[in-house]
This record gives sequence, C-alpha cells and structure tokens, in this order.
Amino acid sequence: MRKIFHFDSPPAPYVADAAVLCCFDHRIGTAVRKFLKKQGVERADMIIVAGGAKTLASPRNDFEQDFILEQVRMSIRLHQTKRVMVMSHSDCATYGGLAYFKGDQAAEASHHRGELLRAGELLTTNFPEISVEPYFVKFDGIWEVKGAGHLRSAAQGKPAGNADKIA
Ligand SMILES: [Zn+2]
Repeated sequence: MRKIFHFDSPPAPYVADAAVLCCFDHRIGTAVRKFLKKQGVERADMIIVAGGAKTLASPRNDFEQDFILEQVRMSIRLHQTKRVMVMSHSDCATYGGLAYFKGDQAAEASHHRGELLRAGELLTTNFPEISVEPYFVKFDGIWEVKGAGHLRSAAQGKPAGNADKIA
C-alpha cells in the first residue's frame, strides 16, 4: 500500500458515549453532529443507514432489522455502549418524503413518533440494560418524542431539559 493522506487519529481504545442510528440523508448530518456535541456525546458509534429508525420499525426486508440489531450489539460489546440514540427525519425518502403525507408536517411527525417508539421498544426488548432515546430530526431542529420515558433506564436516563415536545 502507498500512503496518500496523513492524519493523526487517536489510537487509544474508547468507551462509546452512545450508539447513534440515523439516516444517511446529507441534509440532516450537520444538525445531528451539532446536537450530539451539545449532548456531550463526543465518542459515538454512528450507525448511518437509509431510513435510520425505519430499519427497526418498518424494515424493508428480512435481514435489515437483524443487521441493525447486530450493529447495536457490537457497539455494546466492543465499546461498552449504554445509550442508544435512534433517529428518523422529516422528508425522508425511505418513507416517500413529506409528499407521502401530502405535505402535512403534523401527520408526518405523528407517523414518525409511532415509528420511533416501535424502534425504541425493539431495542429495549433486545437490550434491556441500555437507555434508548428516540429523536425526530426536522429542518428546524431536533425533537424528542413525548412518552418515551420508559425507554430510558433509570441509571442512564437524563432528561433533555426544557426541549419542545411533539405529539
Ligand atoms: Zn432519510
């Protein structure tokens, strides 16, 4: 092999602050990164796939859900992850975009709330020891899902403060 780029990466092993399941849509990438930083999540195991939470809530095929659960399992095993942030976003093409909801953002948010809760419940069922936080990413920011407190373990759960609540 021939070195074509020099950059010094930290070689030390790490404990992940969180595993983050999120869509690969480029439009939300910066918001997600800034949100993680604000949440104090510096070392994240990023699981970036089309649809994000949809891969657990409404998988497209037989292997998608198992594959993503295995990724979370690996993050827990290899990096002692205790916190999983699961996200979906507005106008996600895997849901047919906002157009699928005829431009109705409230209807879209309501649908995603159900998806996020289902994804979160699947995670806590498979990994009872972890704390799961579902989030809906919109073009004006990131929204926490009301009524998802049961997904947070008592040891890890940390209220997100005075954030706006949806649905
Ligand atoms: Zn998407």
